Amino acid sequence: MSPGPRYSALKGVQDILPPDICLWQEVESAAGKVFSLYGFQEIRPPIIESTDIFTRSIGETTDIVEKEMYTFPDKAGRSITLRPEGTASVVRAYVEHHLYNLPAPQKFFYSGPMFRYERPQKGRFRQFYQIGVEAFGAADPLMDAEIIAMLTVLLERLGLKGVNVEVNSIGCENCRPAYRKALQDFFSGRLDDLCPDCKRRYEYNPLRILDCKVERCIELRRGAPKVTDFLCDECRSHFDKVLSAITLLNIPYVTNPNMVRGLDYYARTTFEVTSEHLGSQKAVAAGGRYDRLVEEFGGPPTPAIGFAIGMERLAALLKEKEGPVAASPDVYIAPIGEKATTESFLMAERLRAKGLWVEAGYDGASLRSQLRRADRLSAHYVLIIGDDELSSGKVKWKNLKDGSQGEAEMSGLPEFFPSFFAER
Ligand SMILES: [Zn+2]
Ligand SMILES: [Zn+2]
Repeated sequence: MSPGPRYSALKGVQDILPPDICLWQEVESAAGKVFSLYGFQEIRPPIIESTDIFTRSIGETTDIVEKEMYTFPDKAGRSITLRPEGTASVVRAYVEHHLYNLPAPQKFFYSGPMFRYERPQKGRFRQFYQIGVEAFGAADPLMDAEIIAMLTVLLERLGLKGVNVEVNSIGCENCRPAYRKALQDFFSGRLDDLCPDCKRRYEYNPLRILDCKVERCIELRRGAPKVTDFLCDECRSHFDKVLSAITLLNIPYVTNPNMVRGLDYYARTTFEVTSEHLGSQKAVAAGGRYDRLVEEFGGPPTPAIGFAIGMERLAALLKEKEGPVAASPDVYIAPIGEKATTESFLMAERLRAKGLWVEAGYDGASLRSQLRRADRLSAHYVLIIGDDELSSGKVKWKNLKDGSQGEAEMSGLPEFFPSFFAER
């Protein structure tokens, strides 16, 4: 009896184990393929950054910055933060490496872990994964539409049905102040009933009251002025062009004037993608335009737009839909006896050199237990090598998928077997 685990993972984080990891790999591989069709190239910023890049970009008064960041002093006393999202790092890299000197637009994608100190609850983790994209240097509403299209193409390629896009425009620095004022006027008589968070939001960023998930606040914001009624001519025209471009692509969408997104850096287009497999308010991906951020990071004025996909949610959806599809070995070699074990050890290497996934028996396991393992692994072919096979130089193979059997020259196996998998 083992005494049981002496250590466990930290609260709110998880191990992603096989076969579930296959779903994650499927998403990552599909994302890389689809994004590259649109000219997005991978960028890998570090996971740790100087804290101020997040407070500056995400906003000092956002929940993320106020409550959820993993921030700590390093040994030299610098304030370091484990990235809570990807955009700030990509913008920092874009400016730091003067990528704005390259022909615009510059398009990037990233994937990896993000960290937020949230109350652990179902489906929410303190280390969670995102795949995101950022496009710099195009103010064209066609870029907004293209990026939304790219996202729906990816989700459809992954087999997600009923993908729906919610779009909004939250205006620019010219038209938002009037809307902000209208919202404050609207909520001023309801201030006492708002949740404590929204009372603060009322002062700093009343738009975010529209994002609040507290029942009472949802009730109180009924009849609130709509941001789309306050857009300036430029914002209005931009928004209309985005909508007509996604209509041209037959992408189903609804406009949602309450969708303001929780980060300070957004302007104009914001969007979320939901799936009919999910309840309301549960987006698989979300994004928006952030035309001022590059400038705030010290770069030239550069329009930009991006989105991020929540991997945990997407993987859970795919698991529900198809279950994890575990990969399985091409060949299992079951040796009987010491000499055969050496032969099987060498044969496995030769077949692997031909590109096959080969498993072989270890620790002198009995034939019975080896065949059980081959079966559990769903191996495609099984070879049994014993004294008879060693002396005759011929070996019997069995196809566990269709039950067919045959015999082959042992020396010819490295040429013979790969032909079974020629389609790869
Ligand atoms: Zn505007
Ligand atoms: Zn609230």
